[in-house]
Amino acid sequence: MTVRVRMAPSPTGTLHVGTARAALFNWLYARHNHGVFMLRIDDTDRERSTQEFEEEILGSLRWLGLEWDEGVGVGGPHGSYRQSDRFDRYREVAHDLVRTGAAYYDDRPAEDLGALRTQAVAEGLHPAHFIRRPDPPRAEGAIRLAIPQDTPVVFDDLVRDRVSFEPEDLDDFVILRSDGTPTYHLASTVDDVDYEITHVARGEDLLPSTPKHILLTRAMGHTEPIYAHLPLLFGTDGRKLSKRHGATALSDYRSGGYLPEAVFNYLATLGWGLDAETTIFDREQAVAKFDLADVSKNPAAFDPEKLAWMNGEYVRALGAERFIELARPHVETAVGRTLTAEEWERFETIAPLVQERTHLLPEAGDQVLFLFGEIEGYDPDSWDKVMTRDEVPKVLDTAREALETVGDWTASVIETALRALPDRLGVGASRVFQPVRVAVTGSSVSPPLFESIAALGRDATLARITRARRELG
Ligand code: GLU
Repeated sequence: MTVRVRMAPSPTGTLHVGTARAALFNWLYARHNHGVFMLRIDDTDRERSTQEFEEEILGSLRWLGLEWDEGVGVGGPHGSYRQSDRFDRYREVAHDLVRTGAAYYDDRPAEDLGALRTQAVAEGLHPAHFIRRPDPPRAEGAIRLAIPQDTPVVFDDLVRDRVSFEPEDLDDFVILRSDGTPTYHLASTVDDVDYEITHVARGEDLLPSTPKHILLTRAMGHTEPIYAHLPLLFGTDGRKLSKRHGATALSDYRSGGYLPEAVFNYLATLGWGLDAETTIFDREQAVAKFDLADVSKNPAAFDPEKLAWMNGEYVRALGAERFIELARPHVETAVGRTLTAEEWERFETIAPLVQERTHLLPEAGDQVLFLFGEIEGYDPDSWDKVMTRDEVPKVLDTAREALETVGDWTASVIETALRALPDRLGVGASRVFQPVRVAVTGSSVSPPLFESIAALGRDATLARITRARRELG
């Protein structure tokens, strides 16, 4: 049997990290089993579904490297993979179910049903006892599935093991509304049957829907797929993941300078892992080992700090050229303009040092801002960090003199010139280097000093020391 799994996003919002994690697990399961990963679009909610959200979702999944074999955008043997194209099919199924007696028309308004249900509960009876009418089917009205009363719905979930629902906990739920539109339950189940889905791996929030889907599938004369309900993601405080915990849209991580391979790795650790020790692993390793049956039942914590840390590991492992290529847009964004070829050469000389200090790509831009923009002004406190301010003018004067004698403007010659100064001035090294760093880069935090000065160039360096000296009086 070929494994056929699906991702079924509703284009009513951006792709949530929890949905991305579910997509990832489906993708891994398909790849591990040489099966089919399908993408369908659950857009029965015509009011809230938009083209923009759909594009955002598809773009985010592709960015994460979760290419699908069948579905929206790539096609496949099942015609359209968009629910809004399949309303006729859902209606046909609903009407078939009425014909076989598995479903029935109900034309009463929701308020009446609510009252009937309350009455039923008060009398210790199943709601169906009141809601199902003895009258013949009517031409109009919503269609409800009749829940079989004699037996519980039992299934073996790959993650949660045996799950059982009693019939009295299930309402005769609407499958087709009186306006002829299908509910999520009907559309999703018909699709899973028609598309021959073998395994449904989705968030645990959908567990209460699963007995309904199983009963619908059986009423259609089919056997249900195997289910795997994935534990939900929580924040590090144990509460349900929300914006309060940081960005929850995958695209925020994409635009925030995260690498897709790092996000992939991190999401794969939420409820699953390669083994007890390994934190960093690539997609091939994950594909080789992944099994839905190994997913943990426990809720997983989504920790943005851990993701940032992991991203740093991936950034530092990049080849030098790839780092430069990826950092480029972030550097230009920070600087606020495109850089010239000569400026890129300067960036390249310092790029490996920047790379070592980068967790998130936009940080690369901040670190080299001093190379390509004017220093807007010195923060008075930055001078005071290592020495009293009266000492600074003398240090800067001496540093300027030393740098003026540098012939070959390279990091090592600059270093030799500046390293002679602490002894000459009778102070510790940081008391010399830190003020020079502030004068040249505008900040007490920068890439290593000698390399920064080399990349900035002689004229700009000397001009900045002169300016800082002037501002200090
Ligand atoms: N469109 C549904 C959702 O986004 C799909 C749920 C399912 O996987 O069945 O929640």
